Amino acid sequence: MTSITELVDKYERFRRNVLNLQASENYTCSHVRMALGSDLASRYAHIMPDGTNAYGGTQFTDQIYSETQETIKKLYGAKYAEIRPLGGHIAAEISLLCSVKKGGTIMAIDEIHGGYTGYMKGYLPEMFGFRSEIIPYIPETQEIDYDALNRDAMKIKPDAIVLGQSFFVKHYDLKRIREICDASGSKLLYDGSHVMGLIAGKRFQPDAMKYSDILFGSTHKSFFGPQGGILLTNDEKIYSDASFNTVWRTMDNYQPNRIAALGIAAQDLLSFGEEYATKVMLNSHNLGRALEEKGISVRNAPWYSESHQILLSQENTAKYGTFLDISKKLEKNDMICDREGRLGTSEVTRLGFSDMDRIAGAVSDAIKGKDVRKEVVEILRVSGVRFCK
Ligand SMILES: *Cc1c(COP(=O)(O)O)cnc(C)c1O
Repeated sequence: MTSITELVDKYERFRRNVLNLQASENYTCSHVRMALGSDLASRYAHIMPDGTNAYGGTQFTDQIYSETQETIKKLYGAKYAEIRPLGGHIAAEISLLCSVKKGGTIMAIDEIHGGYTGYMKGYLPEMFGFRSEIIPYIPETQEIDYDALNRDAMKIKPDAIVLGQSFFVKHYDLKRIREICDASGSKLLYDGSHVMGLIAGKRFQPDAMKYSDILFGSTHKSFFGPQGGILLTNDEKIYSDASFNTVWRTMDNYQPNRIAALGIAAQDLLSFGEEYATKVMLNSHNLGRALEEKGISVRNAPWYSESHQILLSQENTAKYGTFLDISKKLEKNDMICDREGRLGTSEVTRLGFSDMDRIAGAVSDAIKGKDVRKEVVEILRVSGVRFCK
């Protein structure tokens, strides 16, 4: 039997010595980790429908909860925040349960265009008993086909139009979609899982709260908190429905260590979010440009990305192998990315990097088969966590 403690130790050493370019991940600061590993980790807290806690010994836990909730509300300028969901997916479940009746319909972006697989037929729609239709999308410009959406929505009259993508590089014309939703009697749901940190920094889709009925998503992607989900709305009825659909329906207790960690990360985003988001977005654009200059083709030239991720082009596969092969080549050289052709800049930005030419050099050399492990060690030598108190 291998000791799990030893494996965790090995894992920690491994992660300290790799450059992480995974778009779905981020780096948590020592305060967030302290909260996650605190005594709160094995405790209960359970806010009952009347607002009281079902457990004793929770006076500080309750204070942490309400401070975190207030900070999240301030961060997004939202009247109400449900901060308990255990992940972006649970927040999506809650949002859908609040908006779509059994036998109803949603429209979402197809997974072939970077939409979230959970909204495709066999997953949440089948589980909750509603239909899922596709939002018309133009991959060449990474834009929704608004005229076609208007036409389809007026025909389908969906309960909800669900925006957001896992391969997410461009904002939407939300004012236009709001008008379509109003005309078709649909709720506007915005799944910001990937971009919650950038929205908090008011750089990506700063009008998300203004036009959406619900803005929800993960707290660990561009939002540099612990794994979890949040749900925001300005509508009192939606908020009370969301709370109803949280406890005993999509989950039970909310893991109070996680909420403490979320609050710490949210306070940091409140202080540093704008600078962080600005740098993340600049780094993405520069990484895309630099990779292209070095012969690795990146989608959406010449702008590449408005977010924290860039998308490698399928054209690379003929020369350098599949996205899985590319990911494995990077991993051999102590760089981590997913196996779907996304490269993310949230974590490198958080660790203080701005020289994307240098990172692109290491990435492209590794993809071309060179051994760049020494260069990666040199790159990592200058890193240090930023944007935390
Ligand atoms: C990652 C993601 C989710 C799921 O989030 P978890 O926090 O992993 O549960 C939901 N929607 C989109 C668009 C995502 O990218």
